[in-house]
Amino acid sequence: MSRIAIIGAGASGLVCAIEASRKGHNVTLFEKNSKVGRKILATGNGKCNISNEKIQLERYHGKSPSFAKEALKRFDTFTCKAFFRSLGLEMREGEEGRLYPMSHQASSVVDMLLHEVRSLHVNIVLECEVTKIEKKDAAFVLHVNEKTDVFDACVIATGSVAMPTLGSSGSGYGFAKSLGHSVIEPYPSLVQFVCDESHLKEVSGVKMDANVELYIDNQKCQSVQGDLLFTAYGLSGSAILDLSRKASHALVQGESVDVVLDLLPNLSREALTSLFQKRLAVGKEKSLSLWLEGMIPKKLAYFIIENTHLSHIKEASSLGAKEIKKMVFALKSLRLHVKATKGFESAEVCAGGVDVSELESKNLMSKKIQNLYFCGEVLDIDGDCGGFNLHFAWASGYLVGQSL
Ligand SMILES: Cc1cc2nc3c(=O)[nH]c(=O)nc-3n(C[C@H](O)[C@H](O)[C@H](O)COP(=O)(O)OP(=O)(O)OC[C@H]3O[C@@H](n4cnc5c(N)ncnc54)[C@H](O)[C@@H]3O)c2cc1C
Repeated sequence: MSRIAIIGAGASGLVCAIEASRKGHNVTLFEKNSKVGRKILATGNGKCNISNEKIQLERYHGKSPSFAKEALKRFDTFTCKAFFRSLGLEMREGEEGRLYPMSHQASSVVDMLLHEVRSLHVNIVLECEVTKIEKKDAAFVLHVNEKTDVFDACVIATGSVAMPTLGSSGSGYGFAKSLGHSVIEPYPSLVQFVCDESHLKEVSGVKMDANVELYIDNQKCQSVQGDLLFTAYGLSGSAILDLSRKASHALVQGESVDVVLDLLPNLSREALTSLFQKRLAVGKEKSLSLWLEGMIPKKLAYFIIENTHLSHIKEASSLGAKEIKKMVFALKSLRLHVKATKGFESAEVCAGGVDVSELESKNLMSKKIQNLYFCGEVLDIDGDCGGFNLHFAWASGYLVGQSL
């Protein structure tokens, strides 16, 4: 039986602790928060999008995403469901293959994981921040709350720097560097956009299905149809999060980022123009905003009027072909400049992290230091929105736990 230290009781650390204990190791789990799994509680808007029916390597990114292949093979969706069922948790499928706990409560996932680690007699040490890891001969010396403790193996499961309010401090990157590993500079991903359009506040709160095209230095590079949410600072929603990895990388490189929104993707330009013209015959005595409100949300109607500089038009009857063309253009090709992302503070995940080329893909052990392992988001592997990030956290924690 070996003494194993796992730093971080998040998604990857908890699964790693369960598997390592099931193998008979003596496991200590260090967590700086007063509770385990704080980030899990925030996932999927509190419902926890635990995994996805369609886990594929193509949904993962980083310098070398194929590194994730072994972990995903060993812990596929079937194994994921079986693992959580072994803890007493049932799942149900939502839209686009997303898997959620049947209770639709993230707290059920944390409660089941916690019950299992307790049953397996894992030594859970809360409110303890590991500040330093030293390698002395074959042992790892961990510095915790001004004390030291010695272990045979050490697992760094500290997560990234995304959403630091939930415990992510990036300490894992520091440990990796101090132990001779390289870290690919992290940047925020699955994150909202800050835009500098002056009338955005007026449309804040409006959510719709839209097609969003991403332009980097005026080159179209990605297009996504999905939920779009206007906010006081800019744009959010699943379509934006899906585009955010490329946008965030471009902003870090100092490139210019724009989005072009098609707010009525199911109507062609021609169909929308002819609908406008037909509606003129019936509603011409209405104010322009009320007339538009028959087709689009009220706040968006005000926004479109401001954006097209048509506020001087009081009644729909005054609309001519030129004005209709302007409104069609605004609704089908609304261009907004993306000034920044909302940063690490609001990001769901980080791109970048510990360079995986310095680790063994079959067990996630360091190629430089025997018995030093990494799992979860601290690695330079990040996934798309839709349960892919939690799945990688569980899968990598599982692989390390089984390999110890
Ligand atoms: C708001 C939000 C919603 C999300 N929704 C989803 C979703 O629905 N589906 C999905 O797949 N992914 C989602 N994600 C991403 C997912 O939560 C993460 O990818 C995943 O939790 C990463 O797991 P991890 O174990 O690597 O890190 P974490 O879960 O962040 O755990 C790391 C733990 O280590 C602890 N720690 C750090 N440093 C130290 C130290 N020095 N000493 C002791 N403890 C330390 C931290 O306190 C933390 O508890 C979401 C993320 C956020 C922020």
